[in-house]
Amino acid sequence: MASVTERILQLKKEKNAVILAHNYTSSEVQDLADFVGDSLGLSIIAANTEADVIVFCGVSFMGETAKILSPNKIVLLPEPEAHCAMASMCSAEQIRAAKIANPGYAVVGYVNSTAEAKTEMDVCCTSSNAENVVNSLYEKNVLFVPDKNLGAYVASRSDKDIKLWDGFCPVHQCITVKQVQDLKAKHPEAIVMAHPECRMDVLNISDHIGSTEKILKLAKQLNADEFIILTEVGMKYRLEKECPGKKFYFPLQAVCMTMKMIEPESILNTLETGEGEIILDADIINKAYKPVKRMTDLI
Ligand code: SF4
Repeated sequence: MASVTERILQLKKEKNAVILAHNYTSSEVQDLADFVGDSLGLSIIAANTEADVIVFCGVSFMGETAKILSPNKIVLLPEPEAHCAMASMCSAEQIRAAKIANPGYAVVGYVNSTAEAKTEMDVCCTSSNAENVVNSLYEKNVLFVPDKNLGAYVASRSDKDIKLWDGFCPVHQCITVKQVQDLKAKHPEAIVMAHPECRMDVLNISDHIGSTEKILKLAKQLNADEFIILTEVGMKYRLEKECPGKKFYFPLQAVCMTMKMIEPESILNTLETGEGEIILDADIINKAYKPVKRMTDLI
């Protein structure tokens, strides 16, 4: 009998499907993917792929973003209940109310948000391009949603007047200065690289700050053998694979449980049954497309 992997590869061929996996998924899932990357990289691949079916191994907002960019394609989410905790901290209704309370503010929304929330944004951004997106705006006043940590980091590198939403990623929010100091005491030669979803006090004691793709790029380029990485532990697999001989240390509790819900069996199930297909209202797609497209045009 064919193995799970063999059946996935066969169905992928039959359905002309492409498998995209976020850097935070498990090593087994990353090994099955055609492309592994961050939200921005995978969104661009989703927008340009010639595949008929996109299997998005990530949380629901990622599948929704792929559907917004490729509305005529079938987008499958292997685990439809894998939702991002940060995305659930900001609804379209709450943004509408904030816009009324803050007239004239441009709403910049981190891509880690629901499709419905995106319909109320002027422009989206990812952790790779948030600073460029904010600094490219004509408006002086900006409402940054939903990540207060990424927003605070951008504010520290911009002369815009930025109001922060009270949202955060629980995985990055839990990383503390004490943990970083303990890791540094154990590995004094290691270079510290942090994702901007971390708190500002943690970013302030880091050597480099950037998206998972920037962290990977620096790990390859820098003349160092040891790194303390302040982001989700799924990234360790890719770093070790693409930087042989280098060592990477992570805070142990930095695990996104929803990303880890995705397993090879769930990929097989969605390809076999079509369960988990992202269905979005045409009106939501049309309205959410504008801020997402504006973001991809700025790259
Ligand atoms: S790591 Fe944080 S931001 Fe990323 S999907 Fe998990 S909860 Fe959301």
